[in-house]
Amino acid sequence: MSLKVNPVLCRAGVMDNYAYIITDEETGVSAVIDASEAEPVILKCRELGLKPQYILTTHHHFDHVGGNEELKALHNLLIIGPEEEKNLIPGIDKGVGGGETLFLGKTKTEVISAPGHTLGHVLWYFPDEKLLFTGDVLFNLCIGGIFEGTTEQMWESLQKIKALPDDVLFYPGHEYTAHCLADAVRRENSVVMQDYAVHARKCLAAGLPVAPVSLKMEKQCNPYLRIKDRETFEQLF
Ligand code: ZN
Ligand code: FE
Repeated sequence: MSLKVNPVLCRAGVMDNYAYIITDEETGVSAVIDASEAEPVILKCRELGLKPQYILTTHHHFDHVGGNEELKALHNLLIIGPEEEKNLIPGIDKGVGGGETLFLGKTKTEVISAPGHTLGHVLWYFPDEKLLFTGDVLFNLCIGGIFEGTTEQMWESLQKIKALPDDVLFYPGHEYTAHCLADAVRRENSVVMQDYAVHARKCLAAGLPVAPVSLKMEKQCNPYLRIKDRETFEQLF
């Protein structure tokens, strides 16, 4: 029971997206979470000797689906994403909604509905491995913009993440930590925030992803997760 996660930086220096190549190690079955663009994902798959069988999409934005059609043509893979955004996701084969369960080889994944950034946005949660892919809902030390939904929807989506176990590790859709760190540090001066900042600066200096960070740490440091009531949250926007 283990899932190997390989982050692939896409649109580097422009949007700094992450695609994630995930592999169920027992069966070798692989998937790409958010195929932002094809080329870096193809190169990484080649390097790892993997042929992904699925793309799991969090939401329809071009920087999360830009590689769908090229990867599909190359690997004949199945593209799965939010049912509500089916008409906006290139190459999609199967729509899913919150509460549905799928298997990647022998590894179970649960779809969590998390609207706000977009109306159909989903999170991909692996409860046994305690891994969570948050797309553009949750980033390290900040959150995604509210483009289609309401602040209320975003608040509810963040509460779902907060309700997940502390030892879950999360993987966001972008490397935005450098932008979010200063504000988070300004708002919070705890020991755990200082630890987070040290970790983040070390990763960024080495050109490595800051992810994964535990939800425990994120809940204590991310200004948007630390807010305890919806009224205060809504005042931020
Ligand atoms: Zn987006
Ligand atoms: Fe994005």
